[in-house]
Amino acid sequence: MIPKTTNSRHVLFGNEKVEVFDQSLTDEEIALLIAERYDKLGFDDPFMVMNLDEVLEKFHQWKRELPMVEPFYAVKCFPNRVLTRFLAKLGVGYDCASKTEINDILDLDVSAEKIIYAHPCKPINHIKFASENGVQMMTFDTVEELEKVKKFHSKPQLILRIAVADPSALCQLNTKFGVNPVKQAPQLIKKAKEIGLNIDGISFHIGSGANDFTTHEIAIAHSRNLFDYARSLGHHMHILDIGGGFPGGEHKFSFEQIASIIRSSLEKYFYDDSVRIIAEPGRFFCARPCFECVNVIHAAQAPREGDDSNHIVYYINDGIFGSFNCKLYDFVHPKGKPLKLDSQAQLFPSTIWGPTCDGGDKIEENVSLPKMSTGDWLLYQEMGAYTIAGGSTFNGFPRPKMHYTISNENYAKYLA
Ligand SMILES: *Cc1c(COP(=O)(O)O)cnc(C)c1O
Repeated sequence: MIPKTTNSRHVLFGNEKVEVFDQSLTDEEIALLIAERYDKLGFDDPFMVMNLDEVLEKFHQWKRELPMVEPFYAVKCFPNRVLTRFLAKLGVGYDCASKTEINDILDLDVSAEKIIYAHPCKPINHIKFASENGVQMMTFDTVEELEKVKKFHSKPQLILRIAVADPSALCQLNTKFGVNPVKQAPQLIKKAKEIGLNIDGISFHIGSGANDFTTHEIAIAHSRNLFDYARSLGHHMHILDIGGGFPGGEHKFSFEQIASIIRSSLEKYFYDDSVRIIAEPGRFFCARPCFECVNVIHAAQAPREGDDSNHIVYYINDGIFGSFNCKLYDFVHPKGKPLKLDSQAQLFPSTIWGPTCDGGDKIEENVSLPKMSTGDWLLYQEMGAYTIAGGSTFNGFPRPKMHYTISNENYAKYLA
């Protein structure tokens, strides 16, 4: 399966090593190459690979489908230096939600204008930090936040977050953030005028893991009304922030379909208006480009009383306290594939447990898999979004080691 002619070399990008392959490789091909090296060295720790070719693919897709919308990558989704540095090269901006996230981006020599502080309820010290570092764009959704920002930021650009939710989104955000666009939003806009603050724009986030993208049209229509109302009070309105929630991996809607709804809504409601349109995609950029390989650290056939005699249980070395926390917080159902897959092999009912002593640390239950042994590798794809970000080292199991890859062609174009 490994292309025989594959050659590679390592280059430094920031402080990290990136492996440059002389051709573009699939997830399986890269996984096999690295797993073979691990086997030779006697390593069995889990590893994650970020394929920068895939990040580029997402970037080009964005530019093709939504050229009028500037993406600001939501750093929390996968806070990773190589990714943020690479996106900086491509001219992408950043959605940060704390002083540390802002600091990490400024460290890349990114201009403060490329950052939106997209958290409506900010600690005072983080507001001061944004002010001192020239980060102006920030969201809010209460009078109390307006007063805080007025006191602790010298030159804010204020973006009012409204709540327009896709009720079927996996992670609801609008019960915690955003105001009703019809009732409270106009009151806040008026209040801002009274306390002498300009409102610069409107933002929304229909929910992470969204499913109904017609919600975008509703939110954009509300934004239009609020732009008109705010301007009638004398606010200089010039930023529309359409948030995140764009799928990054397998999804029932393609990005093309979603982008088409957004384009037509923007055309309908903002066609004659030269506003700056931005978005805060997180998972869109990082879900697909990352895969993880875990090692089978223990395999046993029907070990517990009452087990079906065919049932095989596996223990692997990453689990729900590590990268697979996405099962709990992002409601995904990762599916592992044996890396050395014999498609003719007999399948057995199998359960896959994480490595910790916790009884809830289970990854997959009653799935059909060919028989594997201790030391075999399992490949989990689309593991970039909300995995490493929320993972711990509970029970002393390490987070996966990161590897970065790119093809020579893209290296020459974007990194050299
Ligand atoms: C989490 C978050 C995002 C990113 O959401 P995705 O579903 O990963 O695109 C964007 N904006 C805000 C304010 C967020 O909280």
